[in-house]
Amino acid sequence: MGLIKSTEEIELIRISSLLVGKTLAEVAKHIQPGITTAKLDRIAEEFIRDHDAIPGFKGYGGFPGTLCTSVNNQVVHGIPGKYELKDGDIVSVDCGVKKNGYFGDSAFTFTIGEVDEEVLTLLKRTRESLNLGIEAAVAGNRVGDIGFSIQQYCESFGYGVVRDLVGHGLGSELHEKPEVPNFGRRGTGKELKEGMVLAIEPMINLGKKKVYQASDGWTIITEDGKPSAHFEHDIVVRKGKAEILSTFDFIDEILKNKN
Ligand code: MG
Ligand code: MG
Repeated sequence: MGLIKSTEEIELIRISSLLVGKTLAEVAKHIQPGITTAKLDRIAEEFIRDHDAIPGFKGYGGFPGTLCTSVNNQVVHGIPGKYELKDGDIVSVDCGVKKNGYFGDSAFTFTIGEVDEEVLTLLKRTRESLNLGIEAAVAGNRVGDIGFSIQQYCESFGYGVVRDLVGHGLGSELHEKPEVPNFGRRGTGKELKEGMVLAIEPMINLGKKKVYQASDGWTIITEDGKPSAHFEHDIVVRKGKAEILSTFDFIDEILKNKN
């Protein structure tokens, strides 16, 4: 698992990343008040297997789901279950797939019905912070430049930038080196080189940055109980401008037609 991926490897990661985007769009179609997170998980698993791939998270470290479904004050790693989504909720859906031996990994935070304005703004800005992180992920920069961009933008609104969980390299393993924190100092950390594949994934809290792990051993929750957002893309470091392998286009298309 070298840090620099070959063209062939990048194409395989792209196929997996695109399948994650399509799976999240399939989930988007079904998200509505009354649906359980377990049902969304079954929809995702079936969709992935129908596309000759396997869920990337299921069984990873013992995780039971195809998706991580994290509702409201849950940040990440929520286990799909009996919870019925309701009007006013947000749910961060993180999905991984493995196909041809390579992973894709992407996440999107969805709204259910009418959501508070300040929460909608949190989602919009978290997604924007991901774009800023991607803009910093160019050859010659360092890992700290990505985190700096995300942190500076999000903290300017008083949001909490989660420290305990980070982005990562991606390839034939779901989590490879380097770690990609959503905070950092400019010009510090590992140098970014063309061909590195990274999953960049800001986890941003409306309130304070502190989180804890629930007694289920997985779910990460904000300590102050305020909502949290999560958006994740897989990218290739290039000269001048990173290339995004995953996509929210399929999701945006579904959401546009739903509203
Ligand atoms: Mg993920
Ligand atoms: Mg990830």
